[in-house]
Amino acid sequence: KKEMKSDIEIAQQAVMKPIIHIAEKIGLSDDDIELYGKYKAKISSQALIDLKKNKSGKLILVTAINPTPAGEGKSTVTVGLGDALNKLQKKAVIAMREPSLGPTMGIKGGAAGGGNAQVLPMEDINLHFTGDLHAITTANNALAALVDNHIHQGNECRIDQRRIVWKRAVDLNDRALRKVVIGLGGPLQGVPREDGFDITVASEIMAVLCLAADITDLKKRLSQMVVAYNVDKEPVTVGDLGVEGALTLLLKDAIKPNLVQTIEHSPAIIHGGPFANIAHGCNSVIATTTAAKLGDYVVTEAGFGADLGAEKFLNIKSRNKEINPEIVVIVATIRALKMHGGVAKQELSLENTEALKTGFANLQKHVESIQEFGLPFVVAINKFVTDTEAEIEVLKQLCEQAQIPVALTEVWENGGDGGVELAKKVLAILEQKEQKFEHIYPLDASIEEKIHTIASKIYGAKSVEYSSKAKKQIADFEKYGWANLPICMAKTQYSLSDDPSLIGRPQGFSITIREFKPSIGAGFLVALTGDVMTMPGLPKKPAALKMDVDENGKAVGLF
Ligand code: ADP
Repeated sequence: KKEMKSDIEIAQQAVMKPIIHIAEKIGLSDDDIELYGKYKAKISSQALIDLKKNKSGKLILVTAINPTPAGEGKSTVTVGLGDALNKLQKKAVIAMREPSLGPTMGIKGGAAGGGNAQVLPMEDINLHFTGDLHAITTANNALAALVDNHIHQGNECRIDQRRIVWKRAVDLNDRALRKVVIGLGGPLQGVPREDGFDITVASEIMAVLCLAADITDLKKRLSQMVVAYNVDKEPVTVGDLGVEGALTLLLKDAIKPNLVQTIEHSPAIIHGGPFANIAHGCNSVIATTTAAKLGDYVVTEAGFGADLGAEKFLNIKSRNKEINPEIVVIVATIRALKMHGGVAKQELSLENTEALKTGFANLQKHVESIQEFGLPFVVAINKFVTDTEAEIEVLKQLCEQAQIPVALTEVWENGGDGGVELAKKVLAILEQKEQKFEHIYPLDASIEEKIHTIASKIYGAKSVEYSSKAKKQIADFEKYGWANLPICMAKTQYSLSDDPSLIGRPQGFSITIREFKPSIGAGFLVALTGDVMTMPGLPKKPAALKMDVDENGKAVGLF
């Protein structure tokens, strides 16, 4: 067996081409890109306008079964499938999210793919990249400062200081900042009040940037964001404060999509990365539509499992007409399916076909969910070296019996070569099947109807219950004219239910909506089930302990 190298070792041994060559391959000239060093570029605003006349390529959405600590490998398969399509002489462009520094410093596992299916330069992508997240952090905190200053300077909007909903943000896991008191020290230091920090990827500005069609739409959405409620309990927006122009200015470069390459030199657009619970968990609309204008095929991914990321992609992001996926790839690993079948993490390396058969029910539910949207699909088995022949055979048979198209994928080990079988299946299905994609609910359905549809059709829930606070909020939202927005469910990623311990395919359960958070700029209502963390903490042994940089500035220990 080959010696196992870490992701960063593989990435650092790869030889990148200057990004200008990658741009040329997809028809972008040096005027169309703004270089951030030799290997990263942003695509210029003018190029984005010029590209509008191009025909859009076909969109392939990569999702997964419910994640387990065993790891599924959606990003890895996304990159590998893009490489495989290019290997088959298809013009494919990858669109992915940009990583947040919080999880990077916290738990092991990058967000730039893995093994031989990675995007480069992985150190930059996982660290500061082109500064988009810093710009979003700054815009978020500029708004917070402007709100506090508004109150300090006389509070013309009559903001109720106890009802400020705009929080500060930092792109780190820092539990000590979850709740803070600000403005202490007397009349010259502002007005004291309770505040808190979210991680930048949970900021509404991240969701807004990712759903905006262009800079004009960005400004409009920013102006609609609610920062507080006034003493009459009416919403106060960014537009009321008159600062949408300043916030848009801070984001004028962050809104341009970033172009990088894979180890095999496939073009990849990496842009935006909202949380998949409190937000919709997909890269920016601009990245996806740009990739579609540049390639005949776009491979893109949505966060967590199909019950969260894909559902939100299909019900929230794709309400923008140009981004309707034509096929869905559902990533599953034998390890994760065994966990859904009840095997403990320490025993995943042992063969267990019985547990695999039990855990298969989780995959089957996600297949049914994708069918609810009328979309064709392929299951990608992301092969781990510990998977046995017998297990692979059993999984393939289970899929065949259920008439689920399936491909074994070895992109982590073999790069694009390991994804050719999957790519061929995707292409074959795209050729035969007329897609008749449909949203599973109309926007004008009531808030409760929309939630009931998601809970019953996608989670398999029996019923939905609401706290008295949630019920009251629904009445308020109807009054404010927000009832026609799509719903963004904030739910545990580990289970189809709202209880993380219910693995596999739970039945007969009820979902509880505890509270809503309106994200009016992003354009959705977040429905919170259980506790949702918007500022994660660091684990006992954070990944930061392994990180270093040598005397030449070379990164060490980033996964
Ligand atoms: P996701 O997108 O589902 O969160 P990633 O693609 O980011 O998952 O992969 C998570 C981690 O698992 C990465 O460190 C990656 O290198 C590793 N990984 C993914 N697929 C495999 C595989 N087939 N074998 C070994 N490690 C893998």
